[in-house]
This record gives sequence, structure tokens and C-alpha cells, in this order.
Amino acid sequence: MGKVERIAVLIKQVPATENVRIDPETGVMIREGLAVEVNPLDLHAIEEAVRFKEKFPDARVTAVTMGPPAAAKAVRYAVAMGCDEGVVVTDRAFAGSDTLATSRVLAEALRKLGSEGGKGFDLILAGERATDGETGQVGPSVGTLLGVPVLTYVSKLEVRDGGFEAERAVEGGHERVSAPMPALAVVIKEINVPRLCTLSGKLRGRKAEVRTLSFADLGLPRESVGLAGSPTKVVKVGYPQVTRKGRKVSAFEDFGGALGALEKFLRAGDFVPAGRSQGVNG
Ligand SMILES: Cc1cc2nc3c(=O)[nH]c(=O)nc-3n(C[C@H](O)[C@H](O)[C@H](O)COP(=O)(O)OP(=O)(O)OC[C@H]3O[C@@H](n4cnc5c(N)ncnc54)[C@H](O)[C@@H]3O)c2cc1C
Repeated sequence: MGKVERIAVLIKQVPATENVRIDPETGVMIREGLAVEVNPLDLHAIEEAVRFKEKFPDARVTAVTMGPPAAAKAVRYAVAMGCDEGVVVTDRAFAGSDTLATSRVLAEALRKLGSEGGKGFDLILAGERATDGETGQVGPSVGTLLGVPVLTYVSKLEVRDGGFEAERAVEGGHERVSAPMPALAVVIKEINVPRLCTLSGKLRGRKAEVRTLSFADLGLPRESVGLAGSPTKVVKVGYPQVTRKGRKVSAFEDFGGALGALEKFLRAGDFVPAGRSQGVNG
């Protein structure tokens, strides 16, 4: 049986709301004043990493996020769930990165962290999509940039014959696929139920030393990150205008009159099937 010794989990800190708003002028997400949390779908990736660690007690799990320095809170949460360490990749040079530039930064960070441990990561786990950006591109892009096999929509993951065997959710069922080690797996929420943090876990997370990697640490070309390295441009952002032309009729003061008005409205709008000539009172 192949051994999993090093695992990386990609996690993103997202606004703790589905109600994400975009600045219509700049096309950039309005993050000010929003509470943040670990992207809920990434909790399944963390849980899977911790389960692998339970199967392979020598395995070391590193949670990695790219974001502002405050994203340290997200990796602390991952440590509280059972990861061994957390890394925040942060630098002003990364501001404005689209999914490709973000993936370049994360892939380079994984390459660097992996090389420090000798043989690199055996398994990289990512969530299906982030609840704010929602492209679902980052996991597969990171795997592609690293040149490792990418398993997507993974609902079950096992080590078999020195590699991985995964169950993938496909339309109408599941398929089983295999990949050699190392590999990147994008997991879906069916894979597991994320554990709650224990009190001792929370303390461990709070005390954990979170490592920071900057632009200078990665040695990427300046033009490959941030806005300069982002071929995607937000051209226009629009919201559907919802207007309801309603008319209110109060049934409290004149019940019969209100019913009459309702009948008139329904008949005028062809809502009453033809042949029904009876009045609403009869
Ligand atoms: C032109 C442009 C400019 C942008 N500028 C900014 C900006 O200035 N600041 C900003 O915050 N966003 C910016 N964004 C958004 C940013 O590109 C995306 O939030 C980011 O690339 C992740 O994409 P996503 O949210 O669709 O993640 P998905 O691809 O949906 O995420 C899938 C999985 O990938 C992993 N993942 C995703 N993002 C990260 C991350 N940051 N760290 C670790 N793991 C991750 C997680 O496991 C996640 O579940 C910009 C986007 C565009 C197009």
C-alpha cells in the first residue's frame, strides 16, 4: 500500500454570506464590513485531509490560503480541525489576481513548501468552488500548473496500489477512476461530514504559528501575478432590476369590495378559466 506522507489543503476565506455584492464601477467584490469564514466547501477538503492523517499517522497536513494577512484566521481554523500547520500567501503584488494568477501563486507556494520537505506533496485537496467567486477553476488550474493528475467531483478517495482510487459524481451516477501519486483532488460535499472543532483543537489553532509567504519568497515574474498577470477582466457587472407593480386592496375595511376587486382583476387578466361565469360570492 502506498503511503501518504505530505498533504496540502487549499482553503479560501470568504464572506460569511451568499449575498456577495460587486462594485458596479470597478467590478471588484465589496468585502468591507463583511464577516468572513472558511469557504464551507473547503471544510470537506480539510476533513478529508485529517481523515488521511488518521489513516497515515506520519502524514503532515499543511493548510494553504492566498489572501490578506487576516486570512490567517482561516488556516488557524484548519489547524483547529486537525491540520498540522497553516500558511498564508499574502502580498500587495497579488491584489487584483484572477483565477489564473491566483492559481500560479498557489502552485508556486506548493512547489516551494513541497521542496522544503524533500519529495513534495503526495496529495493536494481543494474544495469544489468558493462561495464568493464560484468559478471552480482554482483547484484544477493549480493541479495543471503543477503537472499532477487532477481528480474532480470526488465523493470518495482511497489509496490503492501506490496511487489513488476515487469515486467521481457524474450525471446519473458515479464512476471510479485512478491516478498515480502525487495528485490533486477536488472534493464535493458528499465525501464526508466535516467535524466540529474540539476545545483542545481550538486552543491549538489559536496558538499555532502561521507562516507567511510573500511575492519575494516565490520568485514568480512580476507580470504573472496581480492585475498584470490576469487575462480575465470584469467588463461589466449588472443586477437584474426587480420591479413589482402591485396594487393593494384592503379587505379589513370593505371585505365584499375587496373580493369584487380581486374578481375583476382575475377576469381581466384571464386567470379564470372560460365558462366560469359565477361571481366569487355565488
Ligand atoms: C479581474 C479580476 C480581479 C480580481 N481581483 C481580486 C482581488 O483584488 N482580491 C480578491 O480577493 N479577489 C479578486 N478576484 C477574485 C479572485 O480571482 C478569485 O476569488 C480567486 O481566483 C478564486 O476564484 P474563485 O473564488 O472562483 O474560487 P474557486 O475556483 O471557485 O475555488 C475552488 C477551490 O480552490 C481553492 N481556492 C480558491 N481560491 C483560493 C485561495 N485564494 N487560496 C487558497 N485556495 C483557494 C479552494 O479550495 C476552493 O474551494 C479577482 C477576479 C478577477 C476576474
